[in-house]
Amino acid sequence: MKVAFNKPPNTGNEERYVLEAIKSEKISGNGKFTQKCENWFEKSLNCQKTLLTPSCTHALEMAAILLDIKEGDEIIMPSYTFVSTANAFVLRGATIVFVDIRPDTMNIDETKIAKAITKKTKVIVPVHYAGVACEMDTIMALAKKYGLYVVEDAAQAIMSFYKGKALGTIGHLGAFSFHETKNITSAGEGGLLIINDVRFVKRAEIIREKGTNRTQFFRGEVDKYSWVDIGSSYLLNDVSAAYLWGQLEKIEDIQKDRLNSWNIYFEGLKNLQKDRCVELPNIPKECTNNAHMFYIKVKDLQTRTDIIEHLKRHGINVVFHYVPLHSSLGAEKFARFEDKEVYTTKESDRLLRLPMFYGLEQKHRDAVILAIWKFFNEA
Ligand SMILES: *Cc1c(COP(=O)(O)O)cnc(C)c1O
Repeated sequence: MKVAFNKPPNTGNEERYVLEAIKSEKISGNGKFTQKCENWFEKSLNCQKTLLTPSCTHALEMAAILLDIKEGDEIIMPSYTFVSTANAFVLRGATIVFVDIRPDTMNIDETKIAKAITKKTKVIVPVHYAGVACEMDTIMALAKKYGLYVVEDAAQAIMSFYKGKALGTIGHLGAFSFHETKNITSAGEGGLLIINDVRFVKRAEIIREKGTNRTQFFRGEVDKYSWVDIGSSYLLNDVSAAYLWGQLEKIEDIQKDRLNSWNIYFEGLKNLQKDRCVELPNIPKECTNNAHMFYIKVKDLQTRTDIIEHLKRHGINVVFHYVPLHSSLGAEKFARFEDKEVYTTKESDRLLRLPMFYGLEQKHRDAVILAIWKFFNEA
């Protein structure tokens, strides 16, 4: 038996919409399907404005441009994240300041942020790991007190909520990813910039259109378009948007299926947690679970290496996750760690992600659970 770690979601409608886009002979950015998707997001997230982008990385880069990040600015974020969270701001010349994570959620420890704030601090970037929210009330209060912006890296957080608010819509700006490893995808790569502060809407449209007011021109608001600001090509093509539209129509099914797999893993492994062999994910009561990921934490790095080997022998593909950014070469040039690093390395070394995707079969989930039990019974 072979159990894949991930399969890109495909619900059946995507092909039809992709074909429709191709036949329309209008497949560049900001087309019909882009509009449909953006309208859907604005309604269902209840937010001011959304813009589809070629990736979450691009959406984060747009956020850094919109906030006028420049050399010397400091940006606060966890070290336990994807490289793009940092690079989007480093590209504008900023210095990254890492803050330790909480072991219970793997999210930035909100109680350690205040100490990291200096006169140079411009932005806090909470990363909602595994789609479980950071402590946003505390983070927003800090931002207000010190006059900072908040950009949510909500790459993994679609359809997840904090005190009833959709993740990505709480900070000034937010970003989703539609990479093939995320809950929904726009044909492999894609992203969304979420704009919650109306002051940014007009300029965001210009930045996405290479620094021109072409979007306004197409709406008939100006009679010709020209160069007005800095920008780049941050548009998603409409064929990819068509694929995404097929997924949005089926998003309830996708979420339900993932959540079902998540619950089955949890039930199947919870007695191992009682025996203290593993730790299972924790969902704080003000947060929802979008089942982006199912991870377990084992005793230490050696145990994790052993269990990955063991599961591989059973045909099961599991992976660890981020190598903390502060331990990388890039961090020597662009970042520093605020205060003591207590949990970031220790907790990330113990973490293991189980197969999780739309359409994961029952027999495969059972095989994963059984193989994990076997590992600990043999130990
Ligand atoms: C996936 C991911 C990204 C990058 O998304 P892309 O769409 O591949 O650019 C950024 N941040 C986090 C936390 C992610 O999980």
